[in-house]
Amino acid sequence: MDLSMIRKDFPILKESINGKPLVYLDSAATSQKPRQVIDAMKTYYETSNANVHRGVHTLGSRATDAYEAARSNVAKFINAKRDEQIVFTRGTTESLNMVAHGYARPRLKPGDEIIITPMEHHSNLIPWQQVAKATGATLTYLPLQTDGTIELGDVEKAITARTKIVAMVHVSNVLGTINPIGEIAKIAHRHGAILVVDGAQSVPHMPVDVQALDCDFLAFSGHKMMGPTGIGVLYGKREVLEQMEPIHFGGEMIEVVELYESTFKEVPYRFEGGTPIIAGAVGLSAAIDYLKEIGLSAIHERDVALTSYAYDRLREMEEIEVYGPAGERGALVTFNLRGVHPHDLSTALDAEGVAIRAGHHCAQPLMRWLKQSATARASFYVYNTEQDIDVLMSALTMAKEFFS
Ligand code: PLP
Repeated sequence: MDLSMIRKDFPILKESINGKPLVYLDSAATSQKPRQVIDAMKTYYETSNANVHRGVHTLGSRATDAYEAARSNVAKFINAKRDEQIVFTRGTTESLNMVAHGYARPRLKPGDEIIITPMEHHSNLIPWQQVAKATGATLTYLPLQTDGTIELGDVEKAITARTKIVAMVHVSNVLGTINPIGEIAKIAHRHGAILVVDGAQSVPHMPVDVQALDCDFLAFSGHKMMGPTGIGVLYGKREVLEQMEPIHFGGEMIEVVELYESTFKEVPYRFEGGTPIIAGAVGLSAAIDYLKEIGLSAIHERDVALTSYAYDRLREMEEIEVYGPAGERGALVTFNLRGVHPHDLSTALDAEGVAIRAGHHCAQPLMRWLKQSATARASFYVYNTEQDIDVLMSALTMAKEFFS
């Protein structure tokens, strides 16, 4: 892997922030975009822009081909059996809401159970609260170990014949915990439940094979994997997608519309109401090509090296408390500098050109579990270097002196 070549692909990395070279450590919030993605979207707009699945003119065909080629590229990327198992959405949040309101809500009833974890992002938590309220189903949380991991024994105990849905993050955006999705799928399926996976932080960083994991649904966002904002994916097994109801109604998703009744297109088109995010899909496809060129295993290895370096360096500083598991983790480290609010810390780091995330990270129940109102988080991607982490550490030392 030629890191200097990779860094050259990202125009934004040349930016100066407050007179200092940018050190971008917030890729878990959104990743930066390589020139290849920016160019693919520009070329699409300059040569192929039209609406899809409608026009019979040449540009309409070009746009449709580009959009459907993107679907096919996504399907191969996660090893889906068929292209039709890929639904384009606006992102992980919309994908998970589709499952909650289109699949779960019409079929759950009082006595049924939904199992999630306290480490869920709000987008895999609030939709389930809403479904539980609307259907009378019970929402149950798996316990967390003190290091923020899940014990398979607890999963075995929790999932019963009443459990209809197990919904879980693959890689926690706060703790970095990597959940054993394949094992959990086996337990869920043994009891007749389906497994919904939030892959927002895993799909960008490691090989994710939906057939190997055997999850029923997988949700992820383009913008966290070098693609543009506004495009995401819902993967589903054929049988669950066939059972899911659309939640967006209007153009593009219909077959025949009568005055009082309408019929809908086949899967996945029935879930893509309205003009789809065509240029977004083109950009996502270019991002997938870029990630594949480097290789997801190589990206994961690089993440592991960077994250363990950051973890060790952060733990060297006595005033810093680091959260999450000590062993294998996603490409991020969440921490607090004792006595300094993470928002103040983040502002101080920004003055040094270092971008980190501070706040509750859309995981308020998890903040309560950590007994913190907020935390700071440094997250990494393949364009980061050990030197970025050294700059973070010097900026943290300066901040510590400033606030003491
Ligand atoms: N799930 C996890 C684990 C995340 O980290 C995020 C984004 O931060 C989301 C879901 C929501 O993604 P989006 O805002 O792209 O819908």
